[in-house]
Amino acid sequence: MRTFKLLIVLSIISAFKSMLISQDKKGDVSLYKGPIIDMHLHAENNSTLPPEELGLCIPLSNLVPHFDPKQEFGEAWTAALKNPSCKNPMWSSTSFEGYTSKIQSQLETYKVRPVVSGSTPILEEWKQKFSNTMIPSLEFQLERDSIPLDSLRGLFENNGFQVLGEISNQYAGIPPNDPRMDAYYALAEEMEIPVAIHMGTGAPGSPYLFSPKYVAAYSNPLLLEEVLKKYPKLRISIMHYGEPFIDELITMMYHYPQIYVDLGGIQWAYPSDYFYQYHLKKIMAAGFGKRIMFGSDTFLWPELLGKSIDIINEADFLTLEQKADIFYNNAARFLRID
Ligand SMILES: [Zn+2]
Repeated sequence: MRTFKLLIVLSIISAFKSMLISQDKKGDVSLYKGPIIDMHLHAENNSTLPPEELGLCIPLSNLVPHFDPKQEFGEAWTAALKNPSCKNPMWSSTSFEGYTSKIQSQLETYKVRPVVSGSTPILEEWKQKFSNTMIPSLEFQLERDSIPLDSLRGLFENNGFQVLGEISNQYAGIPPNDPRMDAYYALAEEMEIPVAIHMGTGAPGSPYLFSPKYVAAYSNPLLLEEVLKKYPKLRISIMHYGEPFIDELITMMYHYPQIYVDLGGIQWAYPSDYFYQYHLKKIMAAGFGKRIMFGSDTFLWPELLGKSIDIINEADFLTLEQKADIFYNNAARFLRID
């Protein structure tokens, strides 16, 4: 009888174990379920949310699959968001409350601690709701945000900012090695502030939408070479990993071992197969799995966070340990979080 009871107990335990394993698997792929640091989340508020709900289909590269320039690109873009062509589009919110409750739910479901990038007033609003989890990051663009150096120092010393980024100079046609950035890089180096800089793809048709000065060539990571010689102690993350300049990125990561990258939403900007095959697999194969950080580039559509996590989790060439590095360990090391 005892043996029989023991057998029952053992079979219950083994059934429970296999249930746990199957919950952590999709097909042959082991899914990472631990805590996540998102290096790339944009703070919105009522001033940045669109007045009507817009539906997003991914990948973004196919939002407007073809375009005849006799039309205005902005019109084609807006039409695609107002009448999304996919079965289950993500919908933007029109109120801060609606938006942040969706963000909250994504953060809780996926156990995410986000580095939240925004302006000072928007991040003050966010701190009311997410002060326990968020890591505040000061967005910055030369000309638009002409913050005197002393004020910037004060924001980091007294206002709780922990990262300088997203530095979005590329949208204003300013390369990462523009000499006007020197003073800011020098301050970040002196204060040991991690810097996160946009280098890579923006929205399709960016120069015809909101950023007429956008320069695609400034995505090239080689443009950081002089910066890193001048400021060798700079803690730097290339957001969007300088995509699609993968070979240039690899030589920069090789020669400048302090460089980290964040995936920066490229996982939903292009079809997954392309992202896996030609970008993520290649950076991993080059041996840089300890310097790739997860970044969702979530903005108007909070569900981009979960979708991004799923896409990385479903990469069948990554081991569970490699996923743990990408989702958490590398960012914790870069940010010097215990
Ligand atoms: Zn960016």
